[in-house]
Amino acid sequence: MKIALVDVDGHSGFPNLALMKLSAWHKRHGDEVSWWSGFEHYDRVYLSKVFTFTPDHDTAIDADEIVTGGTGYKDYRWLPPEIEAIAPDYSLYPRFTRAVGFLTRGCPNQCPWCIVPRKEGDIRPAADWDDIVRPDSREIVFLDNNVLASDHGLEQIKQMGYEKVWVDFNQGLDARLVTPKVAKLLAGLHWIRFVRLSCDTSAMLPVVERAVSYLREAGIAKSRLWAYVLVEDVEDAHRRVLTLERMGVLPFAQPYRDSDGGEPTSEQRAFARWVNIRPVHKSCTWEEYDDPGKEGQHGR
Ligand code: SF4
Repeated sequence: MKIALVDVDGHSGFPNLALMKLSAWHKRHGDEVSWWSGFEHYDRVYLSKVFTFTPDHDTAIDADEIVTGGTGYKDYRWLPPEIEAIAPDYSLYPRFTRAVGFLTRGCPNQCPWCIVPRKEGDIRPAADWDDIVRPDSREIVFLDNNVLASDHGLEQIKQMGYEKVWVDFNQGLDARLVTPKVAKLLAGLHWIRFVRLSCDTSAMLPVVERAVSYLREAGIAKSRLWAYVLVEDVEDAHRRVLTLERMGVLPFAQPYRDSDGGEPTSEQRAFARWVNIRPVHKSCTWEEYDDPGKEGQHGR
């Protein structure tokens, strides 16, 4: 079969795990797999879209069968188990040199803004770290939604502490679950760069503060501490950003998008720019950035 792939969110620069697994599975079965080209006919074309806000693929596709999938299409189905279990075909993304995978799937919590409980259900083991690591790289990016809520996840973290692997949990760690014991396990890991926490509401501030003190006591350097800040109410997000900075945590603002892909407001976007663009952030306050009318100020 002649198979083509479309990574609809291709602009994100992050590899699409589902497409890499589909590619590996088809290649194993003797199929020809390539990125889609508008000049050819295919037996089957897979389009995968992770983000609801990414515009859909809008060019005609010449194929006997077109298969779409992913959260961006509000399609919460899983890959068939035999494809889910296969090692990804990293040759699709030659510039990406890290492994990507999940130690766990799902989450036991029900945060109202989050799609994960609806999409993935309760937390459960997905894989061991040594099934995810690539033979040609010692760096792994884990996509787990709440790895600390899983005994399997904690056991994998413990095991990786004895290994020469460098990790990133890029969806953020749940600060509520960072006890002194967990902080010690986390301090045993080699981190690619940041230890990412989440601070989505002001109620999380004391919890993040406690987690930070446990992580620091366990030996994690201040320069590694980082936190997602969900931006719904800008005033509340502003308070969280300032408080996190006082704790020595680098904030990263994420404007809220509902599961229908609703666009953030211009104020939420401006606030995220002010937080995330470091030279801007260092050069002015949010009040200055938000008020372009005032002399010598930056504006949106
Ligand atoms: S803890 Fe994180 S993954 Fe779980 S429901 Fe809340 S936001 Fe989603």
